[in-house]
Amino acid sequence: MVLPWLVETYSQLTTSRNNNTLHHAIILHGKEGVGKQLLVEQFAQDLLCQQDSSTACGQCKSCQLFLAQSHPDFHKVVPENQIGVDDIRAATNRLNSASHQMQAKVLMITSAHKMTVAAANSLLKTLEEPTAKTYLFLLTDKMDSLLPTIKSRCHKQNLGVAKRALVEQWLQSEGITADPILLDLYWYRPLYLKRLLSDPDANQLKDIEQDFDSVLAGQLTTLAFTDKYLECVDLCLEWLQLYFSEQMKGCDVQNQDAHWEAHIQLTQLSRQLALPGVNKSLLLNQALSALLEAVKQS
Ligand SMILES: [Zn+2]
Repeated sequence: MVLPWLVETYSQLTTSRNNNTLHHAIILHGKEGVGKQLLVEQFAQDLLCQQDSSTACGQCKSCQLFLAQSHPDFHKVVPENQIGVDDIRAATNRLNSASHQMQAKVLMITSAHKMTVAAANSLLKTLEEPTAKTYLFLLTDKMDSLLPTIKSRCHKQNLGVAKRALVEQWLQSEGITADPILLDLYWYRPLYLKRLLSDPDANQLKDIEQDFDSVLAGQLTTLAFTDKYLECVDLCLEWLQLYFSEQMKGCDVQNQDAHWEAHIQLTQLSRQLALPGVNKSLLLNQALSALLEAVKQS
């Protein structure tokens, strides 16, 4: 089953393939947790299927190898930290060898922005000289970090979630009830949201909420709070932003200025989080202080 918010992109890919206009190299750009990898895996199975139909039959030898995750013509580069030139060379060498099942060959590179410059340069040759029935999928949530020379040689496709309701319905169909706060925060990253909801250990929001109440009540210092959540500063800031936008709706006009100022400050701090080498604990501490100030004034 194609994820409901990706159906349109999937059918566009299928149409291009049926019309023989499918680009040999496609960048799929979208947030972490939108389903980029699942989409490629689904489409790759279609491309590799030995039956002459637009979607994979699920029965042929190729489909069975694919479903057993051992298809010799489906190659993946899944980096932990960065993708070096050796990783790309090994992948393109496999791609250049003859197809085992006499069908297509597919290479998927997840987090393609993690390619070093040397790795990206070594991929260029493959992008410039496509061979028949060979398809490359580069996945990223940081399009800006990809080299322009790579981007200019690929077809670019954005993936996103158009409607929150789609995600709500999908979660229901998966038997999951979404906490409204989590849904507000992460509806545009449905698979990430599902992980959060399915794994009680990963759901730290209840703790964050309780501890923030303790900070407000003066029972916990901002420093102690910061120390506790050092590993998930991003999540804390997102939660605080949401908390404050909720607060702003509720407070009277007189107090809105203070909340608004805190909200702006939070937004600026969240942006700084993305910068390399930033001191996250300092940022979170600043955010908490700004919020406390705004709460005191209200
Ligand atoms: Zn098949």
